[in-house]
Amino acid sequence: MSTIYADNAATTRMSRTAIQAMLPYMDQIYGNPSSLHSVGQAAMEALTDARIRVAAALGAANPREITFTSGGSEADNQAIRSVAAWGKRKGKTHIISTAFEHHAVLHTLKKLEKEGFTVTYLDVHKNGIVTPEQVEAAITPETCLVTVMYANNEIGTIQPIREIGAVCRKAGVLFHTDAVQAVGHIPVNVQTDNIDLLSLSAHKFHGPKGVGVLYAKKGVILSNLIEGGAQERGKRAGTENLPGIMGMTAALEEAVAELPQTMPRLTALRDRLIAGLSEIPHGEVNGDLAHRLPGNVSFCFEGIEGESLLLLLDDKGVCASSGSACTSGSLDPSHVLLAIGRPHEVAHGSLRLSLDKDTTEADVDAIIAAVKDVVEQLRNMSPVWRDLMAGKRQFVIA
Ligand SMILES: *Cc1c(COP(=O)(O)O)cnc(C)c1O
Repeated sequence: MSTIYADNAATTRMSRTAIQAMLPYMDQIYGNPSSLHSVGQAAMEALTDARIRVAAALGAANPREITFTSGGSEADNQAIRSVAAWGKRKGKTHIISTAFEHHAVLHTLKKLEKEGFTVTYLDVHKNGIVTPEQVEAAITPETCLVTVMYANNEIGTIQPIREIGAVCRKAGVLFHTDAVQAVGHIPVNVQTDNIDLLSLSAHKFHGPKGVGVLYAKKGVILSNLIEGGAQERGKRAGTENLPGIMGMTAALEEAVAELPQTMPRLTALRDRLIAGLSEIPHGEVNGDLAHRLPGNVSFCFEGIEGESLLLLLDDKGVCASSGSACTSGSLDPSHVLLAIGRPHEVAHGSLRLSLDKDTTEADVDAIIAAVKDVVEQLRNMSPVWRDLMAGKRQFVIA
């Protein structure tokens, strides 16, 4: 039995291009970019080149706006902490975000609340989208930062980032977006999207794990989370992960160049998968169908437990997720599904399938068959399902 990997929102397989791009920086150009000798300077040249290429791929005006980090979580932490520190100096201690951000954002904000900041968490509409009007209405003279994710990692909904950015520009408020699920999956341009700070992570677009980027527009003052050497213009100490950075750069360029082919291809596969799973009674797709990542499928099925669903799907060779890797192992339903108004009992029956460029139509058909099988099997064993069928409980999803 071959395995179908449909959990690309958790992490991706590295592309051959990315692996090839890393190899020379492990055994040939292995110097420390801070060293003054020729071996170090060759590494520094590569680092400079990578910064220029990453800036170009994001539409950034200047390579100096690119800071290499250990991934998306660090970039989120540093972006938010930096603007908060600046805000505090200016007497601006209000931050606006949403209820369905990644935990790297939410947990940083929770800590800032303990440190005296006020955070407004915007409600997310049932379709998994927040509007620029909501952001505009929440801005006060004390607001220093708006942080709204570009695309949600569980339900795949894409936010009106350009419009939210425009609202922030008009109000003179800095705008950060966690674009970890968006970069390399849909077109992202920091300038036309009115973005001041952006986080990305290589392992979500077929690059290596443990490397990412914080984009900060010229003029935004970064503070460092890690003290030490003067790497990254003094804003991120530590010898640069050059193999990782070179692999990320290659993966980013490859993903962006392939968008015109991968987006329509994945959209068609996604819609085929959604159509197939929609045939299961008392199940429903989560999030807007139009403003949605090309590879994301997210469903709730009534009368089942997402965890059991995943285990039985794994037995059938399908690797999926119940939503977020961060909530697995906990009994709490996903904060994202609660944020879009799913009741607890429905949120427990969630399934996320995230496709990539290797996914085939045959894979999609096999996934549909497996999910149909497993949902039926679990419902047949479920006391909750028996009560629903007997009319002792009301269905939430018609
Ligand atoms: C994966 C992810 C992160 C964290 O990125 P890491 O590189 O794994 O730290 C942050 N935000 C979102 C939306 C993600 O999907």
